[in-house]
Amino acid sequence: MPKRTIAIAGCGIGGLACAALLAREGNRVVVFDRMQAPTALGSGLILQPVGLAVLDEIGVGARLRLLGAEIRRLFGRTRGSGRVVLDVRYGRLGEHAGHGVGIHRGALFEALLAAAVQAGAEIAGSRDITGASDGRLSFASGATTARHDLIVNALGVRSPLSWRKPLAPLPFGALWANLDWVGAPFDATALEQRYEAARRMVGVMPIGRLRSDTPQQAAFFWSLRHADMAAWRSASLDSWKHDVRRLWPQTEPFLDQIHDRDQMIMASYAHGTLGAPVSNGVVHVGDSWHCASPQLGQGANMALLDAMALARALDAHGDMAGALAAYSAARVTHIRLYQLASWMFTPAYQSNGAIAAWVRDWLMSPLSRIWPMPKILAALVSGSIASPLAAIETLGDR
Ligand SMILES: Cc1cc2nc3c(=O)[nH]c(=O)nc-3n(C[C@H](O)[C@H](O)[C@H](O)COP(=O)(O)OP(=O)(O)OC[C@H]3O[C@@H](n4cnc5c(N)ncnc54)[C@H](O)[C@@H]3O)c2cc1C
Repeated sequence: MPKRTIAIAGCGIGGLACAALLAREGNRVVVFDRMQAPTALGSGLILQPVGLAVLDEIGVGARLRLLGAEIRRLFGRTRGSGRVVLDVRYGRLGEHAGHGVGIHRGALFEALLAAAVQAGAEIAGSRDITGASDGRLSFASGATTARHDLIVNALGVRSPLSWRKPLAPLPFGALWANLDWVGAPFDATALEQRYEAARRMVGVMPIGRLRSDTPQQAAFFWSLRHADMAAWRSASLDSWKHDVRRLWPQTEPFLDQIHDRDQMIMASYAHGTLGAPVSNGVVHVGDSWHCASPQLGQGANMALLDAMALARALDAHGDMAGALAAYSAARVTHIRLYQLASWMFTPAYQSNGAIAAWVRDWLMSPLSRIWPMPKILAALVSGSIASPLAAIETLGDR
């Protein structure tokens, strides 16, 4: 007899992590997604030490560390003055504190999908979810599922189960592409960025390999306002490359790999947090509970932490209400803190006004070098402020 029947809405990072952990504990799990054969969309991301701990628990951490690229430093400087305005080193937390891993989204997706299927979760594609009530999911086709003991909402930033009206995108998004790694002068262990005020940003992040027999790659990104997207599409690719070169001439070998605008995918970001992670009998995980711009590189890690907390809470509590209250209690402080930090930091890296860039360059940057700020910033980036793993560990101590 399965312990519980659980429907997971969304076959992304949070949904698959929940599926792997909950199916392993003997629950009957079905994951529903609108994609016919769910796959990873988008470029690369940084797995932080806290997210890697969850992936270790799922059993895929070692594989992903091998495929990914070790990230030891986040580094950024401005164009004109060459002023260093971002320099966060994981090593400030001590020798054993770990580091980030730049990973191809496809590598993360494939590892989580395999773990979920191996644990016994069923994947149901081509299901466009429109609503949930009384333990049932409803689809755009008009069909509904059988009743489940629990519905997990992992539908991401545009989840119809979270927000009645879609969240407004932030003014800036970014164009992203996966390109082959080009070596020096780029640091294979750093995410590097160059800025012109906060209006322009180009970045290079090593993301390792999709599979062991594919080449090493980098995520290459260019910050862009949605309002300027049409102009970017209509201008020649060469004029855009000229702008990128002006900001960071060494990116030439990356630019040489871009022949077609469609190689660059525009990602939009939104910022929002639900007041509570449970509503109308649905429990929310990942971006469907809390979404933010990726400036702090935490979203996927947050989704992984949510999945581990939910699985632990359901395992520790026989009653559903107690389990969901424990899940919420274990996660809420960490989430509020990071949502606030992300909301504060985003304009310093993506905004049109001169004030945010001035504050970044002349206040935040000098302050960030004074003790104990280097250590605090390293803890912030590694995801460990508010000790999220310790909060999850206590879920087993009832
Ligand atoms: C450009 C970019 C860079 C980022 N960089 C980082 C980083 O460095 N580090 C980091 O930790 N995070 C990063 N993030 C954030 C991270 O990608 C998200 O926080 C994470 O993917 C959230 O996982 P999720 O499971 O909540 O949602 P998702 O991974 O978005 O999954 C949602 C799933 O739901 C499905 N779905 C959606 N709507 C429906 C529907 N109505 N019916 C059926 N299925 C549906 C989708 O097909 C998808 O499979 C970045 C995000 C972006 C956009």
